[in-house]
Amino acid sequence: MKRQLVFASIPIFLYLAGCGKPPRMEEKPTPEIAEFVKVRLPVAGDRFEIKGSGGFVFQLHRADSSEEWFETDSYFQFVRAGRFLRLKENGQRDFDSNAVWVLMRPKKEGRLLQLDGKSYRGEFWAALDSFANVIVVNKLGLEAYIKGVLPPEIGRRPAKEIEVLKAQAVAARTYTLSHLGQYSGKPWDMETDSRDQVYTGVEAEDPICSQAVEETAGEAATFNGKFINAYYHSTCGGKTDYISSIWPHKPQEAYLVPADDDTFCLWSKNFYWREGLSQPWLAEKITAFLKQHGRPELGKISPITDLVVTERNSSGRVRILTVKTERESYPLLADSIRWALGRPSSSSPQAILPSTLFEVETFRSRSEVLDSAVITGRGAGHGVGMCQTGAIGRARAGQSYHEILEHYYPGIRLERVRRFGTR
Ligand SMILES: [Zn+2]
Repeated sequence: MKRQLVFASIPIFLYLAGCGKPPRMEEKPTPEIAEFVKVRLPVAGDRFEIKGSGGFVFQLHRADSSEEWFETDSYFQFVRAGRFLRLKENGQRDFDSNAVWVLMRPKKEGRLLQLDGKSYRGEFWAALDSFANVIVVNKLGLEAYIKGVLPPEIGRRPAKEIEVLKAQAVAARTYTLSHLGQYSGKPWDMETDSRDQVYTGVEAEDPICSQAVEETAGEAATFNGKFINAYYHSTCGGKTDYISSIWPHKPQEAYLVPADDDTFCLWSKNFYWREGLSQPWLAEKITAFLKQHGRPELGKISPITDLVVTERNSSGRVRILTVKTERESYPLLADSIRWALGRPSSSSPQAILPSTLFEVETFRSRSEVLDSAVITGRGAGHGVGMCQTGAIGRARAGQSYHEILEHYYPGIRLERVRRFGTR
């Protein structure tokens, strides 16, 4: 037996005796009682490497439905092999090539697992999906997850600004609770990027952020007895907006309405911004956007003759920007305008316009064709819910996290739902 070369597996039964039956990863959590969050971790290609600080244990589920637990101090490489995962001990010795899924836990409580060199709390579950893509899911306590989310989502703050971190902790926790089980049929609740909340594991954690999570443990925002959709963004530029104005296909919520931010986010480096967009940039970006969004038949829409703001929301954000050419006009709608125009000053070609709170100035050297447009704007992000830099400004001015949250989500209740998983 190949596994005999690796270690003795019998003590694992004892390890499990205190844990009961291993959790079934495919089970759907119930939001009110969920203690854990399942986060899909990014894996590059069809292989990944797992290590445990102090070793790890794993359960192998094979194609013939057999299941077995093992213990190791080695690192393991997992490689897709057809419709199965092949496990290589120390990256070399074939250990098993018949795994359907594998559950992994640190050997000792409180230790960490590493995926491709990055450390995470909790446990991993790895499998192939129906398209034979490699999936790795990190299952960990909700509170431990929020500790990892807070620093990348709002940045490290000094202790005297802890109230903003507490507000962000409640917002991130509420967002998580309201989105558990959101990916129907998938064994994870959260992605690790801006589709949900940025999460990069233990290295991102920060003592003051973690203190804010602990001081608000289990606390979430509700409206009419349901977890709110706790949207937040970087900088509102003076006023937040209705959710239905920013995303017309989403239902209006009573607590996602315009909130005046006075000068609380004026200190943000994103409060004022300016972008110059040339005719070639505009033609290329807007054509690509339209082709992806309902107009696949379009050729290049050059030359553009005008960019006109045809409608604004009550907050001043652009609701409709009309792109005119000699032959046709193309209305761009609300938040999608940011993707359609892009951000030429950024080094990233995927960067989007900071906000839709802007003015357009157009320039022509001759004829009706546009040479360029200059867009001057305020704020960064969609503008719905909590303004993070405004919330920092409020914490600096002495507001409590309750005051901050109740300002950006009027009418909500803050409730201590229960103390959720901390590992
Ligand atoms: Zn603001």
